[in-house]
Amino acid sequence: MIKIAERLDCAYANIEQAAKKVSRPPKSIQLLAVSKTKPLPLIVDAYEHGQRKFGENYVQEGVDKIKNLQTLDSFTEIEWHFIGPLQSNKTKLVATHFDWVQSIDRLKIATRLSEQRPTNMPKLNVLLQVNANDEQSKSGISFADINTLAQQIAELPNLTLRGLMAIPQKTEDQTALNNTFNQLRDCFEALKSQYTTVDTLSMGMSGDMNQAIENGSTMVRIGTAIFGERN
Ligand SMILES: *Cc1c(COP(=O)(O)O)cnc(C)c1O
Repeated sequence: MIKIAERLDCAYANIEQAAKKVSRPPKSIQLLAVSKTKPLPLIVDAYEHGQRKFGENYVQEGVDKIKNLQTLDSFTEIEWHFIGPLQSNKTKLVATHFDWVQSIDRLKIATRLSEQRPTNMPKLNVLLQVNANDEQSKSGISFADINTLAQQIAELPNLTLRGLMAIPQKTEDQTALNNTFNQLRDCFEALKSQYTTVDTLSMGMSGDMNQAIENGSTMVRIGTAIFGERN
């Protein structure tokens, strides 16, 4: 039996420590609890321990969880982030259920999300996903394409551009990893100076959250360290 409360406390203590190391206020880093493949009771545990932001990778699984918790009055403060690859035929489900989409890498998907966002819901918050190490296997845009896509997305009426997300290549080379995080931070700062809505740099997972925070992350996405290994 996994003790979610203890693991969450640990994750927050970890954020605090990493932030202090570089003299950042710990509150300037948000924790997204990545609950993909994990059952609802674990999400309920985390929520009851004060966690509010949750991330899901698969549309149908995420929507099922969202609907389930919507029927309970006490879960009104929950915030859902879609962080997985998104196909055009699934945009409507995402637009009608999630609060954030972190994996935007095409104008076509963004346009559909804006068109399909119900007008009685707040605007959908979006991050551009950057493929920081140009990996074939990963989605995301290249650094060079950030400005163009940002400009196009900023014009869409029902989306709010909030910043960038990235999943750097797994590596033992700490210098290379730090360089990647730094490059992302520079792009984020440039974007922030152009758009008043931009405030989020989503980088860092269970294995590299410390380096991410030391290099300017404002949101870490933590799955394994909170919910345990996935099958
Ligand atoms: C699964 C996933 C995470 C969480 O990864 P852990 O290593 O389990 O912390 C974070 N971000 C994205 C985009 C993911 O798909």
